[in-house]
Amino acid sequence: MAEFALIDLIRARCAVAREDVRLGIGDDAALLAVPAGQTLAVSTDTLVSGVHFPKDTAPFDIGWKSLAVNLSDLAAMGATPAWATLALTLPDADAAWTAAFADGFAVLAREFDLALVGGDTTQGPLSITVTVHGFVPESLALRRSGAKVGDAVFVTGTLGDAAAGLALLQGPGVAGKAQEHLLARLNRPTPRVAQGLLLRARAHACIDVSDGLVADLGHICHASAVGAEIDLTLLPASPALLGLVAAEARVPLQLAGGDDYELCFSAAPAIATELLNDLARSGCAATRIGRIVAEPGVRVRAADGSLVASPRPGWEHFSP
Ligand code: ADP
Ligand code: MG
Repeated sequence: MAEFALIDLIRARCAVAREDVRLGIGDDAALLAVPAGQTLAVSTDTLVSGVHFPKDTAPFDIGWKSLAVNLSDLAAMGATPAWATLALTLPDADAAWTAAFADGFAVLAREFDLALVGGDTTQGPLSITVTVHGFVPESLALRRSGAKVGDAVFVTGTLGDAAAGLALLQGPGVAGKAQEHLLARLNRPTPRVAQGLLLRARAHACIDVSDGLVADLGHICHASAVGAEIDLTLLPASPALLGLVAAEARVPLQLAGGDDYELCFSAAPAIATELLNDLARSGCAATRIGRIVAEPGVRVRAADGSLVASPRPGWEHFSP
């Protein structure tokens, strides 16, 4: 199949009509209208085969995940998704692979009313770069830099599932409902877009947990010139994780496991109850896990108040 047939295939499977797309796929550039009063939020993430997903991952899941991780960044800014571009590098022009990839991408594109407005298609080792564009009134955008001493720290959903799913894949084999849940969390993450919108004007700082809780909360602390203390016993765990992984082995997965794509945020303790109620009603409950303090760095405390030794830091490219 030739390059333009592949592009047509992707375009047909990902079709989402939006009035603000004045010119979509097919010209030298897309023409897009940003609504009055909104600021454009733009984010890019690349997924490289063998680095960001195992080489034998199903193409549907790769398509899903390549959009999900980008939507998660918009969620962390409190932005509403609108458009995406897709730079796809494929080893060969495999129509069946590309169709399945586009179908996975399209599930989330439809769910979040996101139009694919352009991209690039090239030959080479499998790699996917998605750029997403969303809208947020500038004064409402959630940044990493607003955390205040005395804030409570929260996280949506559960932690450690995706890392446990990856460990399962590298282990003896996968069978059963709990295993399937962990694998789905790895391969088909749920971007917390609705929750990000609920945090507008309420959270003081926000980030999505892509590299691990301690590492990503560390980014909030660094940007806000504060520190944080986390209570190990408060970290939310899924029934699947609790059922399959012993307590000790859960600790590094929950503190340093990547790929969960939950939102970690800080807010004034006075609004915690109302905020938690609203988030629970949105379909994804959040949990209060700690507090913002003046002393820099992220510290984790066990039930008896003792400090938990920091697990290996979150994922970093180029680290030795
Ligand atoms: P150009 O040569 O002008 O850069 P291309 O031939 O690369 O344009 O692409 C033709 C059209 O198809 C453009 O509108 C481009 O944005 C779009 N396109 C190319 N690859 C993809 C893709 N993987 N997904 C979505 N749109 C794509
Ligand atoms: Mg051109």
